[in-house]
Amino acid sequence: MAIQTTVAEAIYPYAAWEVSETEFRLDHNLRNETIFALGNGYLGLRGNFEEGLRGPAGSGREGSYINGFYESETIKYPESAYGYAEHSQTMLNITNGKVIRLLVEDEEFNLLTGKIIEYRRTLKLRDGVLERVVVWRSPQGRELQVETTRLVSLVNQHLMAITFRVTPLNFSGSLHLSAALDGNVKNLTTEDDPRAGSDLQGRVLHSLEHIADGGTAALVQRTAHTAFTLAVAMETQVTTSSSYTVENSNDEFLVSADYTVQAQQGVPITLDKFVAYVTSLDDGDSALLERARHIAADGKTQTFPALQAAQQAFLADYWSHTDVEINGDPAIQQGIRFNMFHLLQSVGRDGRTNIAAKGLTGEGYEGHYFWDTETYVFPFFLYTNPAISEKLLEYRYSILDKARERARQMAQKGALFPWRTINGEESSAYYPAGTAQYHIDADVAYALKQYMRATADNTFLTKFGAEILFETARLWADLGDFIPRKGGKFCINEVTGPDEYTALVNNNCYTNMMAQENLLYAYEMAHWMQTNAPDDYRRLAKRIALEASELETWKRAADNMYIPFDEASGLYMQDETFLDKAVWDFANTPPENYPLLIHYHPLVIYRYQVCKQADLVLALFLLGNRFTLEEKKRNFDYYEKITTHDSSLSMCVFSIIASEIGYHDKAYQYFLRTARLDLDDYHGNVKDGIHVANMAGTWMSLVNGFAGLRVYNGSLNFAPYLPPTWDSYSFNVTFAGCLLKVSVGKEITTYELLTGLEMAIQHHGESLALKHGGQQSAKVATPQAHSG
Ligand code: BGC
Repeated sequence: MAIQTTVAEAIYPYAAWEVSETEFRLDHNLRNETIFALGNGYLGLRGNFEEGLRGPAGSGREGSYINGFYESETIKYPESAYGYAEHSQTMLNITNGKVIRLLVEDEEFNLLTGKIIEYRRTLKLRDGVLERVVVWRSPQGRELQVETTRLVSLVNQHLMAITFRVTPLNFSGSLHLSAALDGNVKNLTTEDDPRAGSDLQGRVLHSLEHIADGGTAALVQRTAHTAFTLAVAMETQVTTSSSYTVENSNDEFLVSADYTVQAQQGVPITLDKFVAYVTSLDDGDSALLERARHIAADGKTQTFPALQAAQQAFLADYWSHTDVEINGDPAIQQGIRFNMFHLLQSVGRDGRTNIAAKGLTGEGYEGHYFWDTETYVFPFFLYTNPAISEKLLEYRYSILDKARERARQMAQKGALFPWRTINGEESSAYYPAGTAQYHIDADVAYALKQYMRATADNTFLTKFGAEILFETARLWADLGDFIPRKGGKFCINEVTGPDEYTALVNNNCYTNMMAQENLLYAYEMAHWMQTNAPDDYRRLAKRIALEASELETWKRAADNMYIPFDEASGLYMQDETFLDKAVWDFANTPPENYPLLIHYHPLVIYRYQVCKQADLVLALFLLGNRFTLEEKKRNFDYYEKITTHDSSLSMCVFSIIASEIGYHDKAYQYFLRTARLDLDDYHGNVKDGIHVANMAGTWMSLVNGFAGLRVYNGSLNFAPYLPPTWDSYSFNVTFAGCLLKVSVGKEITTYELLTGLEMAIQHHGESLALKHGGQQSAKVATPQAHSG
């Protein structure tokens, strides 16, 4: 389908290192709660106001989440069948620690009453804080200034802190500040859109303990079914030259420190609040409350400015090897940094958790992890922060036993990773677009291969990686069959590829090609281990009862993999019968019927050639050296016409291939959509959370697209191109322990080895030997732009 080339009007003013708004609008509130969310991969807080918002139902969604902290219920199917996913997993909306209510005499500070005289809210990407300044006049005419700064610590994942400063501008009088932990929380339940909401009913978090004493308070709660415990503790402190007293509320679900201050005109009052979240999933059930209290107290001892400084230092390091600079396009500059910031805020860094499709910013997709991780997010971290990418793979290892169980349930050998999950069990209730996406196994194996190529981390391979590889290879060997009517080729039937508008097909091309890679890599690595780490190999083979003959079967299956190809048109067929279907009637589909999935029954969609997202085109990228440029062009041209991009995972892939085949204008148009998808709310659903995969896709569209990065034959290959409206761009790539800075200008591309001694790279097919230090960097011509 044609890409919309109109650029949305900016919702937030363009700025290189921040996202801000200068007006409060209730109708934008839900979206802003997502955009201004803070997180650290463990804890995520939607950008709700400290004082709350007593707006009409549905105008705001209070949200605090812990990655991997979920409730589970039995999924009720009116018509069930063997092997259906049994339990839901829903990332819980947990105790709200943001609350600071403010009462001026008998008037409550709230943006929906009185008058807002001044308003500014800013998300600062270098500081990792959310700031707000409001000048407000109460209905009775009292004017005050409220300044808040909030952070979710990137250094101590359990801690968040807020400083809340009030200055009475035209009055003196009694002022009440109530800092609370509010356990009266629930998840979003009903939504027409299948992409949001859950079935959790009633109260999920039950109270075990509640404490409030002076500036301190805590709540300990337990989930109803999963029986996980959560301890939340807070420390507060008021700083002012005015006199004040403190009292407490101490209810089962709400504890608070309530300060009454004899406020004087012009004299500021600062309330600092430090909140710690600890769960039984971290290090077991013991002493949770003590741990939480200790962390909150430690935050208070450190003081807010010290936490802020530590946050800045953490981010300075992050940006030093992650930043992408774009000169000449402030909109894109802001978009890409915003995306990279949210990726960091969303990613679990402990090997026990992963990255949810919506990060920790909303309840869309219930906090589940998908293939989005390995195929989209993983490369971004691998080439900027490899230690984080290792943790993502470690997570897969941590659920390998569950994946083995699932394979058994599905009558298969090896391991089958769940399509969507938190705890490792399959929780997709719709198997045609869930469990049937077997390709997730190959996606994990592919990520592992990329990881090995970029890090040569043999310890990881022998400890975790090999087992994942062998078990996934086993799955493929068992899932497919050599079919005589297909010339004895190895066929993988009844699967769904990445494109969710086509389901339950035989021989999805992407799946077969990726499975082939998986099988071959497992075969190679098994032989590598036999020679280079024989003891590890023997131990592993014994533990998983791996027979030498299995290795041969992997090779045979890979060598004989059936690849659906149509000789007449020269097209790779998305699956064996894809081209036998009629093309969707795009001409008579009104714009308001997109996305198709919420306007047509799945069967209607499955019957036609119509793609929700890149499928074959993704193979053109991931397995790029298997196709000629001509083939890439032909297939791109065909599949582009029938792709709706109803999934946010699509455009970035089209942008990358468009770049490669020289369709530079198109590549740029697709790129615009990905870079500002959330900031400009192109899909209209940012309220439910950010689009994590797309955010990483922006980075790929630039680095793999415009700069043409591919890793072939163990080295980095670039083919840089500069979009004509830009002056230049630069980015960093970490590879084989070296940090490389690539700067693409109008005439010249510069490669600079910032750390590491030497590195050999390719620039448009020409070999360059780089040595450490600015003097030795390579300056080569940037080929002139041309459009396609
Ligand atoms: C896409 C999937 C993706 C999921 C979560 C769906 O709309 O079709 O490919 O994994 O969203 O982001």
